Amino acid sequence: MNTNIHPALVGSLSSTAPAEAIINFSPGPTGLPKAVEERITAAFNAPGLTSLALSHRAPEFQTILDHAVATTRKVMQIPDEYEVLFTHGGGHGQFAALPLNLCHDQSDIATYVVNGTWSERGRDEASKYCSVQTIDAKDPETGKYTSFPELTEANIDPDSKYLYLCSNETVNGIELHRLPKLPESRKHIPLVVDASSDFSTKPIDWRGCGVGVLFACASKNIGHPGLTMTIVRKDLLGNASPLCPGVFNYTTNSDAGNLWNTPATFNIEVVGFLMDWLEQQGGVAECEKRSIAKAQAIYDVIDSSNGFYGTPIDNKTLRSRMNVPFNVAGGDEALTNKFLIESWEKGMIGLRTLTPFGFGDYLRASLYNGVSEEEANTLADFMKRFASENA
Ligand code: PMP
Repeated sequence: MNTNIHPALVGSLSSTAPAEAIINFSPGPTGLPKAVEERITAAFNAPGLTSLALSHRAPEFQTILDHAVATTRKVMQIPDEYEVLFTHGGGHGQFAALPLNLCHDQSDIATYVVNGTWSERGRDEASKYCSVQTIDAKDPETGKYTSFPELTEANIDPDSKYLYLCSNETVNGIELHRLPKLPESRKHIPLVVDASSDFSTKPIDWRGCGVGVLFACASKNIGHPGLTMTIVRKDLLGNASPLCPGVFNYTTNSDAGNLWNTPATFNIEVVGFLMDWLEQQGGVAECEKRSIAKAQAIYDVIDSSNGFYGTPIDNKTLRSRMNVPFNVAGGDEALTNKFLIESWEKGMIGLRTLTPFGFGDYLRASLYNGVSEEEANTLADFMKRFASENA
């Protein structure tokens, strides 16, 4: 890092603010709700073996695993015909695992809705293993992703083994607040959902939307990096490509009850803690209310700033509640830097972070489960004050 450059400008999360003032708006990995973090600390400090040191085949770990699965099922209302798997390799692992499990060979077709950086990346990875058809939502004039396409008979090949979409494009700030239903003549095609950055923040109509597979890397809303939750409808098991590695194979892992090889034991325990917390808070419906309120606080400031702040997604029904992209004075460098430094000094970190796609044109406030309504309001208040002082 160039030491002359302020840490806030280069994506650093270090802060000189007192610990209690720090609010992590990072797009992930990021913090978990305070009560969950306290439970994690208590688990670490408990006498005896923690799940970090337990054999994954010990009965004590089986209890932890069973609890994490049961509480996830309960909170997310996952029907019995779905298997809850804890998989390896993050979201990128699932980009490859999906075609390897659902397509028997490279000639099998899969349809990908591409409306942002992550669905683009998922599609590119899948094209190594199957025959990909793309429903491309890129605006031909601007070259940007700002919408979600209509799903019609005309754009979905009836022979698709699955239809893939990303329910929250973390970088582009586009969210499906409800999953779509496929046209009647395409209902036989399982929906595959990358819910990495919105899982647990709204209800899922598993049956009604024909969800076949839904995956979420843990490190945004439900836990820590190193674990991915992959929920698979059982009728899709047993059709993997012969080349599918065992560690990615849904059938192998389901048959072995998530213990085909050593899972990320501690991370699984943390998912259980998070789901317990969600249940205590009133479940996924309450979480959705909070997500709406947090995002609304920020979008309201943007929309009433007379153009001082801008956000790329005009269609309010698609605006992400999880990741709010915004710019300052049309992207003016001096004012953007001033905004970043002043907010950082107050403990608000993670508003500019590096992604595989660079810094991007926008700052981003990520409002996952670890960010409370009060914390979102702190940022909204800061934005209002900054606009009034600098507009
Ligand atoms: N999908 C989405 C929507 C994401 O936001 C991310 C990570 N930011 C990924 C996939 C990739 O996940 P991982 O880094 O765990 O492979």
